[in-house]
Amino acid sequence: MNEVLILGEILEGSMDPKTLELVGIGRKLAEDLGGGLSVALMGGAVSAAAEQAASVGPDHVYKVEHPLLEGFTPDLWLAALEQICKKVKPKILLMSHVPLGMELGPRLAVRLNTRLTTDCIDLSIDPADGLLLRTKPVSGGNAISVFKCPGEPQMATMRGKVFGAAEPAEKEGEIGDLVPEIDDSMIKVVSLGVVREEIVSLDKADAVVAGGAGLGDEGGFEMLSDLSRALGKTLGNVMLGCSRVAVDKGWISSDHQVGLTGSMISPDVYVAVGISGAIQHLVGMVHSKKIIAINTDKGCNMFKVADYGVVEDYEKLIPALVKRLEELS
Ligand SMILES: Cc1cc2nc3c(=O)[nH]c(=O)nc-3n(C[C@H](O)[C@H](O)[C@H](O)COP(=O)(O)OP(=O)(O)OC[C@H]3O[C@@H](n4cnc5c(N)ncnc54)[C@H](O)[C@@H]3O)c2cc1C
Repeated sequence: MNEVLILGEILEGSMDPKTLELVGIGRKLAEDLGGGLSVALMGGAVSAAAEQAASVGPDHVYKVEHPLLEGFTPDLWLAALEQICKKVKPKILLMSHVPLGMELGPRLAVRLNTRLTTDCIDLSIDPADGLLLRTKPVSGGNAISVFKCPGEPQMATMRGKVFGAAEPAEKEGEIGDLVPEIDDSMIKVVSLGVVREEIVSLDKADAVVAGGAGLGDEGGFEMLSDLSRALGKTLGNVMLGCSRVAVDKGWISSDHQVGLTGSMISPDVYVAVGISGAIQHLVGMVHSKKIIAINTDKGCNMFKVADYGVVEDYEKLIPALVKRLEELS
């Protein structure tokens, strides 16, 4: 069988957008293999998400429902996923590079005696032997490598926001049940607390106002906050982003960082203030719908990808911009 299987994720009853991105790349891999595409959804009750998954046109959606799969108990999810793989025998198994995939992926690979490549940014099929080519950053992001490994299923976790989400398809996928055989005795971790932290999820922003070394000091982010608030009146959810230099200087926390070693985002609007446009930064934001750059150096890289650019000292421009936006709102 040349089936490509995706472990889907459910967020508040709906399919996680990252799963829709996996469906997009999974469909292409299935076409190249001449096989089918399927999505497995696990949980206590997954019917609504299964309907949604079916609408983006995989061949099959497997509903893996069990009261013990309500909430995430890793040992039980692992056992259920292992059973699914043994039944479906996928050629390729894809998961998102998020805590679920990071927890289950390595443990499953060991159980199935296969190899996993984590945090991939591209996937394709080697036409010579049908094996999965797994592209990922290595050496702290200084190089990109392509890996190929034997074994089945061919397993990879995929970084989010690299591919667009799959669109609704004309033909809906078939929904079927796969009932896992799991029980309490399989639970080895008896107590697992979820520590909630206030972290910035840049991928949920409609617009991002990002600052870099050109801000001069951390006070610059106060000015960017004023701009975010003013833009928020028309653009929706506006968040602060930054370059790595701003994090390294201790001006802002690392969860605001955009780029290869930060978040990969594609908001409606990205405002880059005092950011030169190093490649490691650009890979994280170049897919933004509209890019606005403010920089004193008219030759900087950021202007090469910007839709609009202003060559000006940000300290002169931003207060005037905020004033004008407030007059208009
Ligand atoms: C392995 C690796 C991973 C990395 N990952 C990331 C990553 O994820 N994200 C990331 O951002 N970087 C990353 N980097 C760092 C990256 O290479 C750059 O060093 C960094 O992006 C530069 O940040 P910057 O643009 O803020 O600073 P600079 O390159 O110093 O640019 C500052 C800019 O501000 C402008 N400027 C100065 N004064 C003003 C002013 N008053 N008004 C307006 N403009 C002004 C300047 O003209 C200049 O263009 C990584 C590097 C490595 C080696």
